[in-house]
Amino acid sequence: MLTSQVQFSNMNIQENISLKPYNTFGIDKKAKFFAQVFSEKDVIEALSRAKKLDIPLIVLGGGSNILLTQDVDAFVMKIELNGISLIKETEDEVFVEVGAGENWHDFVLHCIKNNWAGVENLSLIPGTVGASPMQNIGAYGIEIKEVFEGLYAVNRQSAEVEYFPWEACKFGYRESVFKNTLKDQYVITRVLFKLSKKPTFHTEYGAISQTLDEMGISDLSIQAISKAVIHIRQSKLPDPKEIGNAGSFFKNPTISIAQFEKLKANNPTIPGFPNEEGIKVPAAWLIEQTGWKGYRQGNIGVHKLQPLVLVNYGGGEGNEIAALSKKIQESVLEKFNIKLHAEVNFI
Ligand SMILES: Cc1cc2nc3c(=O)[nH]c(=O)nc-3n(C[C@H](O)[C@H](O)[C@H](O)COP(=O)(O)OP(=O)(O)OC[C@H]3O[C@@H](n4cnc5c(N)ncnc54)[C@H](O)[C@@H]3O)c2cc1C
Repeated sequence: MLTSQVQFSNMNIQENISLKPYNTFGIDKKAKFFAQVFSEKDVIEALSRAKKLDIPLIVLGGGSNILLTQDVDAFVMKIELNGISLIKETEDEVFVEVGAGENWHDFVLHCIKNNWAGVENLSLIPGTVGASPMQNIGAYGIEIKEVFEGLYAVNRQSAEVEYFPWEACKFGYRESVFKNTLKDQYVITRVLFKLSKKPTFHTEYGAISQTLDEMGISDLSIQAISKAVIHIRQSKLPDPKEIGNAGSFFKNPTISIAQFEKLKANNPTIPGFPNEEGIKVPAAWLIEQTGWKGYRQGNIGVHKLQPLVLVNYGGGEGNEIAALSKKIQESVLEKFNIKLHAEVNFI
């Protein structure tokens, strides 16, 4: 039972509610406490409430990058801070501040409508703006670190709002400081982006150019690129509204050039993309080669077209998906001596 409801009267705190509508895997696990937060004041109030209850606090955005493996014996804070404000404008750029609860794709569409370039390649990524810096979301050759300016976050210990400029976020491939040394220490409330009024088009990655051709589009624009990206994503990735999933389950591993050459001798078709640390190998290829593509066990499995995506066909359990992911990791390690790391956050 709630004991101090009067003190927190503005906040609607629900108890023992199902999180099924709040995660794209569609896993039916319960949260002990659940509250939506619409402002930084709400965030601070929820932090205080969780502290008083002596219960852990979990921050939830759109639930598109989490796997619920058990009931959540915690206070779940659902981020709903909204608003998109133009902060500053120069001849070439705009600086925009966005509430952490804004839907990412809606924000992308807003930018396209205003002719603000930079995020069009990131069209249709599910989730919230506040979660986008967490793992430096990326797709079709672009990561948000390229348009990111800074963010405001509430320190979970001191309840103070702090500003993190670009350098402080320590972005990497699907990484930021908030997933590493500052894990579970901040609630991101506002994100600042620097967008361009004079676009540079990135069509070299994936099938963007080819799709633009197929769509009969010869005049390049950020609208056209967004349309092509949406088209490709819809044809390649399962829609979580139809089949539960969290997008790519694993990160693409980077291995040394020496290991890559060794593997290539026995596996001539192995794809590899050089980066600063070595050669990035598509996890999807590794999973396919170990025979998991299209695997199904009861209500869960590996998507039949996109082996990097683990799926819940309905009624599946998070711990079944976790166990399957472990088996996949073991197979890939055994066959290729490559360790796959999960991109999805286990709860
Ligand atoms: C079909 C599909 C396709 C996808 N494609 C891509 C892709 O192309 N590229 C890509 O990078 N990702 C992709 N993803 C993954 C996902 O969309 C992103 O990681 C997204 O940023 C997650 O946002 P969210 O709001 O749903 O975060 P959630 O799943 O709610 O949370 C993710 C993590 O961030 C934390 N968190 C969330 N919000 C905050 C906050 N405000 N403050 C502090 N911590 C917070 C949570 O505690 C959790 O640890 C895809 C997912 C799906 C389902």
